[in-house]
Amino acid sequence: MELLKKISEAPGVSGFEYGISEIIKKELQGFVNKIEEDRFGNIYAYKGNGEKTIMITAHMDEIGLIVKHIDDRGFIRFAKIGGVPDHVLLSQRVIIHGKYKKIYGVIGCKAIHIMKEEERKQLVTYDKMFIDTGLSKEQLEKYGIGIGTPITIERDLVELENDLIVGRAMDDRAGCYILIEALKKANPVNKIIAVFTVQEEVGLRGATISSYNVKPDIGIAIDTTIAGDHPEVSESEAPVKIGNGPVIVVADGRRESLGGGLLANSLIVNWLIELANKLGIKYQLGVLEGGTTDAAAIQLSRGGIPSGCISIPTRYLHTFSEVLSKRDLESGIKLIIGLMESKISFL
Ligand SMILES: [Zn+2]
Repeated sequence: MELLKKISEAPGVSGFEYGISEIIKKELQGFVNKIEEDRFGNIYAYKGNGEKTIMITAHMDEIGLIVKHIDDRGFIRFAKIGGVPDHVLLSQRVIIHGKYKKIYGVIGCKAIHIMKEEERKQLVTYDKMFIDTGLSKEQLEKYGIGIGTPITIERDLVELENDLIVGRAMDDRAGCYILIEALKKANPVNKIIAVFTVQEEVGLRGATISSYNVKPDIGIAIDTTIAGDHPEVSESEAPVKIGNGPVIVVADGRRESLGGGLLANSLIVNWLIELANKLGIKYQLGVLEGGTTDAAAIQLSRGGIPSGCISIPTRYLHTFSEVLSKRDLESGIKLIIGLMESKISFL
């Protein structure tokens, strides 16, 4: 839990992953054969020496904000990085990662008292919001805050009842956590190259670059996926449930066509199912509309890489309070260890 809390609270908006990547590098020290970093910021951890190379990814980056403009009074306007829904932004406390100092701020807007009747019923869009730090424009500059400074939402990881936790950036720090724990515990029979990727939330960019570098035989992404087991979502809309085990992804992509996503290699899907059965791990199969993971980029690398994805069911994805089950995390770790330690006979 301590590690999960640490990596969930670390900053790492896409393109600015250094906060989280430093922690991951330190954490893996002594547990893997070698750690490397490429020019793009992807972290590679090597373990095992089998003949097949399995690339396993988890993305380090998170959705967040970036400074777009600072007015004469020091109020900050921002752009969004990744799929940030407007309706979860208002009144959030944020951290602005200045070059010389981290500064707290709050996302403000007009108070309800002075809103016109129609305004009260409307969703406030992000371009009508601003960040108040209490500092003037000159003071902000002194702390190294200006156009292009990254902003994260301030949020601690806490435990809910019945084995649940809630935190910011569980997408995909949950995946990072699973991959770190599996690397620490596994005795691989394959050559494992674990890649902690950058810039997933803005178009799978880190995975695109790193899969070319790694040239694996198999690619597996670990990520989070939508759990729909809560009010206002029907079971047919999102059948995955938290606590029912990791999701073996069969297909994902854009809502209208599953375009741009992953049609998982059926040999990989069968292998993962067999492994889960052998290890006694409860799992769910997933066809997931409305998004994809690093596996979609890995599969298209070079001459084509058989790829699959294991996702942890998560409620309220891309809000800053993402809920998941500790039991699913533990099962995820077990499954990834099993995968590292199993001989590949189907390729
Ligand atoms: Zn993700």
